Amino acid sequence: MNSIASNLLNTDTPLDELLDATRKIVDTDLKPLTVKIDLEGYYPESVMRKLGSEGVYRQHLSDMRSSGIPDMGAAIQAMGVVSHECMSTGFAIWCQDTCGWYIQNAANSTVRDNWLGKVSSGNVLGGTGMSNTMKAFAGIEDLRLKGKRVDGGYIVNGNLPWVSNLGKDHVFGTLFELEGRLGGSVMALVDCNAEGFELRLSAHFVALEGTRTFACIFKDVFIPDEMIIDDDGAAFLRRSRTGIVLLQFGMGIGNIQSCIDICRSVEPLLGHVNGYLDDRPDELQEELDDAVEAALILAEEPYETDDDYFREVLQLRLTAGELALKASQSAMLHTGAQGYLQTAPAQRKLRESYFVAIVTPAIKHLRKELDTLAQAA
Ligand SMILES: Cc1cc2nc3c(=O)[nH]c(=O)nc-3n(C[C@H](O)[C@H](O)[C@H](O)COP(=O)(O)OP(=O)(O)OC[C@H]3O[C@@H](n4cnc5c(N)ncnc54)[C@H](O)[C@@H]3O)c2cc1C
Repeated sequence: MNSIASNLLNTDTPLDELLDATRKIVDTDLKPLTVKIDLEGYYPESVMRKLGSEGVYRQHLSDMRSSGIPDMGAAIQAMGVVSHECMSTGFAIWCQDTCGWYIQNAANSTVRDNWLGKVSSGNVLGGTGMSNTMKAFAGIEDLRLKGKRVDGGYIVNGNLPWVSNLGKDHVFGTLFELEGRLGGSVMALVDCNAEGFELRLSAHFVALEGTRTFACIFKDVFIPDEMIIDDDGAAFLRRSRTGIVLLQFGMGIGNIQSCIDICRSVEPLLGHVNGYLDDRPDELQEELDDAVEAALILAEEPYETDDDYFREVLQLRLTAGELALKASQSAMLHTGAQGYLQTAPAQRKLRESYFVAIVTPAIKHLRKELDTLAQAA
């Protein structure tokens, strides 16, 4: 057992206790805020901190488990419980979980020793600026951040259009291209308080507005060596990519299940006519149950780097995006005018489901990568 794990006071929380504790926070703290988060863009910081203190952000991190064995399935399911109520907050959890995942996977033990405990407990909130990285490695766009080596670290310039779960005292993981080393890139943890770094509120969204999403502007930002996660960015991405994508199932599972539950909730009133609709709740439930089962099996090997394994993860991620769109449309059609009200869950779920489909890797990105992998096979 390593030094951080041996400092943990508790043994690992059993899954049912973790999910019960998460549900309790959702019911008492999050539920009263959901509409405010959605319509006013309120960021539920106290909920985020409370979830952290219940251990929600450390399940998938081997160093933060007394067993030393990561349980990514538990992380996914806890995110699912939150996303069932509010996927905006579910996405903020994904940001936090993914930030912890980067730190856990750091080649540099200093960054892990300094930050893993703080991020996995929610004492420090954090995010991930890796959409550009993942698109760049898939040949969709160029890397937006450029760094050059200087004494004791790197100077980084450029910008990222959207990074969520950020604030003045937050951190996030990102990757920059290294000038002077062909194809070279470096993965780093960025401190939002760093000199030359700016969080700019430049956009408003139709959903996920309560996620503190900012444009990140880097003007000669010095990133010291102790914040470098890996000076081989490509190797880092290869060993972390499966976990990054797998964790997103938490959002999808919660969103889809809530749509199914909405369809079911109007059955007593509208079942006599809703029976004429496509994508009925029982059909959707069967598809979701199959997807969840497959995702939890894949989540048992979050460190698998094999391309065939990653293809399965991408294929299932595509299924989740498509199923979210189908289920949310069905929730709208099942609830009719009631679901069309400004505060109705169905229309909120619809807007949230599009995020499952467009957040990197978006449906089009997934299809492109699957095509590339198929051609290489
Ligand atoms: C609410 C919200 C929160 C987000 N949070 C995060 C986050 O925390 N971290 C993160 O990394 N990302 C975040 N994103 C980004 C997100 O993951 C996706 O990358 C984004 O939604 C667009 O993805 P896409 O694949 O549809 O790209 P597209 O919109 O299709 O664009 C792909 C790229 O192609 C290029 N491009 C597109 N159109 C043109 C054009 N007309 N001319 C020239 N070039 C063009 C651009 O470089 C663009 O980036 C967030 C987005 C939203 C909406």
